[in-house]
Amino acid sequence: MVTVAYTIIDVFVFAIGATIGSFLNVLVYRLPRELDFVRGFSFCPACKHRLVPRDLVPIFSWIFLKGRCRYCGAKISFRYLVVEASCGAAGLLLYLFIPSPAQAILFFAVFCVLLAIALIDADTQTISDGLNIALGVLAVVSIWIGPEVALSSRLIGLAAVSVPLFVIMLLINGAFGLGDVFLMIAAGFLLGWQGALVALFIGLIIGGVYGGVALARRKKGRKDHFAFGPCLAIGIFVSLLAGDRMIDWYLSFF
Ligand SMILES: [Zn+2]
Repeated sequence: MVTVAYTIIDVFVFAIGATIGSFLNVLVYRLPRELDFVRGFSFCPACKHRLVPRDLVPIFSWIFLKGRCRYCGAKISFRYLVVEASCGAAGLLLYLFIPSPAQAILFFAVFCVLLAIALIDADTQTISDGLNIALGVLAVVSIWIGPEVALSSRLIGLAAVSVPLFVIMLLINGAFGLGDVFLMIAAGFLLGWQGALVALFIGLIIGGVYGGVALARRKKGRKDHFAFGPCLAIGIFVSLLAGDRMIDWYLSFF
């Protein structure tokens, strides 16, 4: 009986995560288009038909409709399903592995904000100020909830990565955007300066691999811009979860 109860709770937590992921999909679509993402009915972007609750069940609606609009048959991006499933999985994993409920919720909120930043940057090559501010607010809340980072480290973190990025942005036109700089100000306060460096390092590796692959496939020329936000977002979240251990591991070589 106890096992069944735990399973029901796990499914419930996953469902909440997936539902928040569904809302995130709406936000990622509407925010760059300056549409109201809090009010207003959901509608199909192709035929503008209003969607009813049975069209909006996270994960299941996409699968039952085979990734197409019920009304006009337009394709619904596979990404909607991936975002809902990954928010469900992230919610469940954080719930299972982080002992403090408050910290699990905070980390999940950080995950959602970073995912929205990454998706919007991939779509539009811009990072919304609102989402950077949201990350900054979560960073301030984290002073009380954790990760445990000294305030001095957080304050240095405001500038440790953002200032070098800003200088590179001025020197190399199009290398980074101001959105990346603001993102690393917020992330620096969240992670502290050591964690922010880890995040940047991971971001640069992912960006380098992605850029190399894209170049090899000749999808992008050497001068084309590509969104660095998703790389930084992954780096920030990995650093949030495992930055301490990665720094200890690195220092163990000296
Ligand atoms: Zn439609």
